[in-house]
Amino acid sequence: MPFQLKDSFGRTINNMRISVTDRCNFRCRYCMPEEGMVWMNKNELLTFEEIARIVQIVSRLGIHKIRLTGGEPLMRKELHLLVRQIAEVDGISDIAMTTNGYFLKEQARELSEAGLSRITVSLDSLDPIKFSEMTRRDYFHKVWESLELLTSLFDTAIKLNVVLIRGINDNEIEKFAELARTKLRPTDGGQAFIVRFIEYMPIGADDEWENSKVVPTHEIIERINLTFPPLIPIEYHGNQPADRFRFSDGVGEIGFISSVSEPFCSSCNRIRITSDGKLRTCLFSLHETDLKTPLRAGANDEILSEMIVDAVRKKEEGHLINRPGFVKPQRTMSQIGG
Ligand code: SAM
Ligand code: SF4
Repeated sequence: MPFQLKDSFGRTINNMRISVTDRCNFRCRYCMPEEGMVWMNKNELLTFEEIARIVQIVSRLGIHKIRLTGGEPLMRKELHLLVRQIAEVDGISDIAMTTNGYFLKEQARELSEAGLSRITVSLDSLDPIKFSEMTRRDYFHKVWESLELLTSLFDTAIKLNVVLIRGINDNEIEKFAELARTKLRPTDGGQAFIVRFIEYMPIGADDEWENSKVVPTHEIIERINLTFPPLIPIEYHGNQPADRFRFSDGVGEIGFISSVSEPFCSSCNRIRITSDGKLRTCLFSLHETDLKTPLRAGANDEILSEMIVDAVRKKEEGHLINRPGFVKPQRTMSQIGG
């Protein structure tokens, strides 16, 4: 029986998110302030070789899915070289990436050839003006061009992450649902996008989060059902944060990441590595395990492996958003790796 990385609540950890940089060319209002972000020095970031070594170690512990994120992962030069190194690690069956999409037009092809299997693009508005307001960058058209290219490169639907904020972009729920149903891949006519609505979480740098700005999943479903053939849950075996739904006429899929209204902590199967080499067992952890210092001091695989097993054993039962004990982590989503 292969090794299984288990925490003290019996959850099996088989999924690791790796932040490759804290830098970003966008300034999404819910994530970063407009000015004043202090970036890590380049020598603080794990090198590609260091990341690949950690991946080798965790793959022997049963982790087989990797997601690259950031900051904006494509701000890290030659990311395809890292993808190739990870793809060569025995036991890694899936390499995905979450990106704002800006650099994809230039890089998508070589990333795919290097072994990247799936890409999720964050896109909070289909209206170029609203997009600029939310990201503080006038880049909608560039991102859309990337998306058009992706639909012809990959033979599966591209996931679009949409963070809804009440009073800002919740008037676009129907437009996104329509997109999930009507936009097709030019290659084989399959659905081009799976739209995934993410509940707004209290982890940005702006401190503007309020519960009343979260648009809960049940409300989105009710809204969509007023206009489209009703959504039906898709039975899915395996762990993933999104609850998946299909439209009852069989056309299109929508996902919901209900981190605030219906946390999925009890089935959480993931850990995270920050770009400066800290292991986090939850997005909302208040504690990190420094892997970079021992790694750079020459620790062998066994020692690093034990540190990871020990940290996972102490993984939090769940986050406390909306409960009295909630403490917002010091680091923002872009610094932790979303
Ligand atoms: N820069 C990349 C991107 O935007 O896709 C990857 C990093 S970003 C931190 C990862 C995901 O976190 C994005 O889909 C983003 O929308 C989401 N995110 C950031 N801040 C959030 C917040 N306060 N609440 C919910 N989702 C958030
Ligand atoms: Fe950058 Fe992604 Fe944060 Fe937006 S959500 S500022 S794209 S890291």
